[in-house]
Amino acid sequence: MTVQQLRSAVEGDVLEPGDPGYDEARTVWNAMVDRRPRWIVRCTSADDVAVAVRFAIAHDLEVGVRCGGHGIVGHAVPDGGLMIDLRPMGAVQVDAGTRRARVQGGALLRALDRAAQEHGLATTAGNVSHTGVGGLTLGGGMGWLARRHGLACDNVVSFVLVTAAGETLRVGAESNPELYWGLRGGGGNFGVVTEFEFALHPEPGQALSVEFRFPASAAGGAMRRWRDAAASADRRATWNATIAGGTVSLGFVWVGDPVEGAAVAERLGSELADATEAPQRIVEPLSYLELQTREDDVEGHAWRRYWKGHYFDALGDEVIDAVLSRAGRDLPNVSLQAYGGAIAEVPDEATAFSGRGAAFEFVAASRWSDPAEDERRIAAARRYAGTLDRFASGAYVNALADEGAAGVRRAYSEAKLARLRALKYEVDPGNVFHLNQNIPPGRP
Ligand code: FAD
Repeated sequence: MTVQQLRSAVEGDVLEPGDPGYDEARTVWNAMVDRRPRWIVRCTSADDVAVAVRFAIAHDLEVGVRCGGHGIVGHAVPDGGLMIDLRPMGAVQVDAGTRRARVQGGALLRALDRAAQEHGLATTAGNVSHTGVGGLTLGGGMGWLARRHGLACDNVVSFVLVTAAGETLRVGAESNPELYWGLRGGGGNFGVVTEFEFALHPEPGQALSVEFRFPASAAGGAMRRWRDAAASADRRATWNATIAGGTVSLGFVWVGDPVEGAAVAERLGSELADATEAPQRIVEPLSYLELQTREDDVEGHAWRRYWKGHYFDALGDEVIDAVLSRAGRDLPNVSLQAYGGAIAEVPDEATAFSGRGAAFEFVAASRWSDPAEDERRIAAARRYAGTLDRFASGAYVNALADEGAAGVRRAYSEAKLARLRALKYEVDPGNVFHLNQNIPPGRP
């Protein structure tokens, strides 16, 4: 097939360097990513995707798959290769009767959240609304509803998948159980998902954000009490903490009746105040949609970015001391977010996602604008996370950056990786989809 034939075979635009829209299409969330695909196919359907995949294979072009463009290392954008841009496929259709949403493979979280909330429904989605449903869900998908309803991937009832062979499959528990297992946590390794079918849950849309702020030097005792209280937290609450500069913020995000959430805040406040001087207290009622968009600006585009993450099965005193020891000294901001609840109830072997035993996810993240600072910023994030390596129980695949194969081994157990490699061998033996946290094909 020539590029002329490609252009007439697909409904969407085919862009090349110099075309209007080309630079916008190759620009992703992390401004450090500056790669130039040979072709960008702006796909409008599964058929377009299948044609683009076949064209790329025939011309031996590396394939990148773009949804929200929030993958931190920019795997979506292949240098000199073919980028499948799914963003023209951003629609969400909700069936309130069956409580299901059909979400196209290029949709952003905000499209899903908004469409579901119009019917008083929701499903687990991440915390920043310009993130893509695609990458987030295929890696797992952590959000404020996960302790109640499971991860985003736990709520996917079926997928429509275009494979490396250019076939379009509907993948569900009955129709294709092994792929259904692998797509729930295995990332973009098995093909291009053009549609996700999500289960939705009644969710009136009220939320509360609760923070108690301490100077880092005085936060050790409070952080231990905050950690102890997390163990028995209501599932409507997701314990979270941030450390920015010398300030430690301990609290939780509540999705549900704000009066009940405020009572939880009251109890936590008195426990934390016992531990040290009275903290600064910020309790903010907001709608679920406001909650889902409140970090959109601070997590906005056009900054240079780097992060490193860990899972902790337990937040022991040593971990707390190590986390706090670098506060204010290093440049990255740190966040901790609690898992547990419904996430932990799904048996580990039920999905490719690995991390159900995590008590907390840790991320040290840095943003800056001057390229001259790249080395220093990246080193600082690595150093911060590096002091915690010995306490970590693995990492969230979507929080990996440039760790390569070693990172993938942190994200999955050996047994799970072997099963994923066998599945990859079956559906993508030539590793066409390798621009991701790659699972190399392995003969079973
Ligand atoms: P892209 O860069 O478009 O895609 C990343 C990779 O996913 C691609 O390279 C491709 O391999 C694959 N992919 C994407 N779509 C498809 C598809 N339809 N079919 C096949 N493969 C596909 N994670 C959480 O769990 N919870 C959060 O709250 C959260 N918050 C975040 C906030 C920000 C600001 C950022 C930058 C990231 C956040 N993440 C969160 C991590 C996020 O899940 C990953 O960065 C994820 O890869 C982003 O997906 P994307 O579609 O936006 O990115």
